[in-house]
Amino acid sequence: MNKCVTCDKCGHDFAIAPENCGEIHKGDIIVQYFYCTKCNAKYHILTTNTTMRKLIEQRVAIQNKITRCRENILPLGTIQKLQHKLDRLIVRQKKLMPNLKKRGEEILNDGDNNAENKMP
Ligand SMILES: [Zn+2]
Repeated sequence: MNKCVTCDKCGHDFAIAPENCGEIHKGDIIVQYFYCTKCNAKYHILTTNTTMRKLIEQRVAIQNKITRCRENILPLGTIQKLQHKLDRLIVRQKKLMPNLKKRGEEILNDGDNNAENKMP
């Protein structure tokens, strides 16, 4: 996903690439972000805690199962049940998202995090 963005702070255009993405770990929380290649302004991508990461895992698993139903590897009849489960997961994620995002942005802006915690 080499999405092009324009930095809000300096107007620089750059592509979001693994080289300018990072993670900050704070206790249970992982904040994923990318930063401007010119002025290093940090931008929030996603903040997760253990609960959210479990929900994401479950969601991927269910989505894989749905794909396998569509490919006739699993019985088609189960799609509805899976879809229902998926909908419930998405609702739970949506409930968690605003607080996590807020927390993530706080962590990103907190003391500028000069100790870079970039991904290996
Ligand atoms: Zn910038």
